[in-house]
Amino acid sequence: MASTSDNGGNILWTKTLVSVPRFSYVQINQHLKDGGRKEIGQKGYKFFVENYIHDVYVGKPSRHGDLACIVQARCHRSQRKNEDPHSLEIEVVNSNGDANISKAKCSCKAGEGGHCNHITGLLYTLNHCFLLGITEIPADKTCTSLPQMWHQPRGGRIVAEPIMNCVFANSSTDRAGTRKRLPVTC
Ligand SMILES: [Zn+2]
Repeated sequence: MASTSDNGGNILWTKTLVSVPRFSYVQINQHLKDGGRKEIGQKGYKFFVENYIHDVYVGKPSRHGDLACIVQARCHRSQRKNEDPHSLEIEVVNSNGDANISKAKCSCKAGEGGHCNHITGLLYTLNHCFLLGITEIPADKTCTSLPQMWHQPRGGRIVAEPIMNCVFANSSTDRAGTRKRLPVTC
């Protein structure tokens, strides 16, 4: 993946966090404040915890300017799951080793100024990597390499099912084995 940027020349996209300045809760807090938010960004935090943020890439500009790196990511939708995930991008400036977010944008309706919950989710993701001292962004995990997630309601997509396959039965009688009639089908 290669693209160009106004101030960075050619961008080299990698999964390494070596060129990314440090992300801590300070940046998250500042970003929330800049967006006029007083809370900790619960929704954004949820996007991080529940693996909504994926396809994270770090773009390193070939030209050495103020820009330290660009981070791009995608975030699954919490509603309208059949539509494409949102595209996120932040530009990061190095401020004595700490990250300074100079620009943020997201493809969602609220993301024009970069102060949506998806961007907050990405910041929490980066903060998590720095807390653990991870230098490579982990590959997006497959479901079999993760702990069980039955308690997490999100699916990647909602798949339509023909009405002929739907069965309507009273669950309590079903469970107790006391159902007298066959369930209703179409
Ligand atoms: Zn957004």
